Amino acid sequence: MRNPLLVNALEMLRRPGTAKEVEISILPSVLDIDDQRLVPGTEITVEVQCESLSDGIVVNGHIEAEFHGECRRCLQPVGSVLHIEVHELYQLVVTDPDAFAIHNDQIDLAPMVRETVLIELPDAPLCRIDCAGLCPTCGVDFNVENCGCAAPIIDSRWAALDALRDQLPE
Ligand SMILES: [Zn+2]
Ligand SMILES: [Zn+2]
Repeated sequence: MRNPLLVNALEMLRRPGTAKEVEISILPSVLDIDDQRLVPGTEITVEVQCESLSDGIVVNGHIEAEFHGECRRCLQPVGSVLHIEVHELYQLVVTDPDAFAIHNDQIDLAPMVRETVLIELPDAPLCRIDCAGLCPTCGVDFNVENCGCAAPIIDSRWAALDALRDQLPE
């Protein structure tokens, strides 16, 4: 299957300042991505502008992917659209350590998109930044209700500290 993220760079490099838009939605499998953090059946959207320099091509734009998972504190399902800004450089002769190479007068956006999505997919998402999590003793979701467990635990810790303090010399 033809890689839909291959962009012909020959003409662009002949005329520095030439721009080309790439707007495409593709299934992760086309990019060799098999990751359960991505919502099955949804496509990754790539919207970038490629602009030529005399010796390379600058790629600016964004990538979107739908992810899902479990809140790392309360274990409730979470999901959202990942929106990733990209600013990349492709070079004929790679001198920038972060740049991608131009091969056969083409730039291949696929490895860049794959790498970017895999780096940005959250490993341990939160349902919200201040999620209160679960009670470690009874499992009650603190976002929804309170339980009586937490207080005695804290009390006993303070009691232990007090006992230690009593042993310290004045
Ligand atoms: Zn949560
Ligand atoms: Zn509890």
